[in-house]
Amino acid sequence: MQLKVVKFGGSSLADADHFRQVADIIKADPARRYVVPSAPGKRFSDDVKVTDMLYHCYEMIKKHEDIDEYYQNIVDRYTGIIRDLGMSFDMSGELEYVKNAMKHGTGRDYAASRGEYLNGIILAKYLGFAFIDAESVIFFKEDGSFDEETTNSVLREELKKHEHAVIPGFYGVMPNGTIKTFSRGGSDITGSLVARAASADLYENWTDVSGFKMADPRIIDHPCTIDVITYRELRELSYMGATVLHEDAIFPVRYAGIPINIRNTNKPEAPGTMIVPSAKDASQIITGVAGKKGFSVINIEKDMMNSEIGFGRRVLEVLEDYDISFEHLPSGIDTMGVLLNTSALEGKREKIIAAINRRVSPDSITIEDGLALVAVVGRGMVKAKGCAAKALRAVAKADINIRMIDQGSSEINIIIGVEDTDFEKAIRAIYDEFMGGNK
Ligand code: ASP
Repeated sequence: MQLKVVKFGGSSLADADHFRQVADIIKADPARRYVVPSAPGKRFSDDVKVTDMLYHCYEMIKKHEDIDEYYQNIVDRYTGIIRDLGMSFDMSGELEYVKNAMKHGTGRDYAASRGEYLNGIILAKYLGFAFIDAESVIFFKEDGSFDEETTNSVLREELKKHEHAVIPGFYGVMPNGTIKTFSRGGSDITGSLVARAASADLYENWTDVSGFKMADPRIIDHPCTIDVITYRELRELSYMGATVLHEDAIFPVRYAGIPINIRNTNKPEAPGTMIVPSAKDASQIITGVAGKKGFSVINIEKDMMNSEIGFGRRVLEVLEDYDISFEHLPSGIDTMGVLLNTSALEGKREKIIAAINRRVSPDSITIEDGLALVAVVGRGMVKAKGCAAKALRAVAKADINIRMIDQGSSEINIIIGVEDTDFEKAIRAIYDEFMGGNK
């Protein structure tokens, strides 16, 4: 029989109505055996997430302020859910324990993690599933990095003991027994780890949108939803600013070849987006368009640069010395451009220019800021003719000056550099060119 691991985000578990929807979704498919919840999220736009309230408690304690009154808001959130679900169970002991533990200096991560922990206990009781505390199955190493090996083997053995279980997201334990969390949004990672340890057939990630959009809805009105995207395409798009899933959630399932399905709790009938290891067919040439502002380019010129062996290496060594990573290297015969995040240059500009001057004696070196990168991503572009022409024509037609072009040899992406001020216009032009009439 199939096995699915299902993760529900905070907005999917914000109140009792959402808990009921979640239970319906889980019960609708017997393959949905392991459940990873987030902490209760926002119920309305200016509501506060429980995780943020817990961080706030921690800050208050640090300033020696009394948290009793504020903590009552957290108590109300959980007891409200329990009451509205018609459950008879009393959580006051747990809630009191957490408050006292926080007061006794258990730390920032402990405070934040209790959002998932308490929500997991309620959800497990409501579903009639076992509760596996993430503290007993998710491990970090002494240096704070994630302990993949121990987690995978302990988690795998623990899951084998349970037909159904709830494992709270977002946290694990350090070798000394203290609680540590992943970065914000980290329940996605827990879901991915559980899916791998369970050798799941599918990792369903339930949120409040019906999958990935082909472009940022703040720039494009009602962009199409992506039906199928490969891990590599997703990596390109997320790197360029598209977000739905925590970036680190991809790796565990990707290596295990487990697909991820992004679904909408409020619209369970929608198929959402499937993230798959590989896909042969593509219904569209492009899968998505994304981009970021805030790049700079270091332009270096030197006569006969192309025949000077080691020139590029020496330039890049300078960046390495200053602990800077670069994004692209658009180059000509006697020119070399190094594209990087403007923020990486902060406080280092003059030193870098001086160091490059010393290392390769160029004829000229300048730094230009204010660049944006737009990535056109799609497995449908591999071997298809005219894709780059189409993208560039769209940008040209919109009267936008192209500052840089880069196509990776994998052919799944074309990167176009434009002025920051032309960024949104370029995304619209490219989206319309490929998807016009298809909205
Ligand atoms: N509750 C945590 C956060 O708000 C983790 C998560 O929801 O994934 O970041």
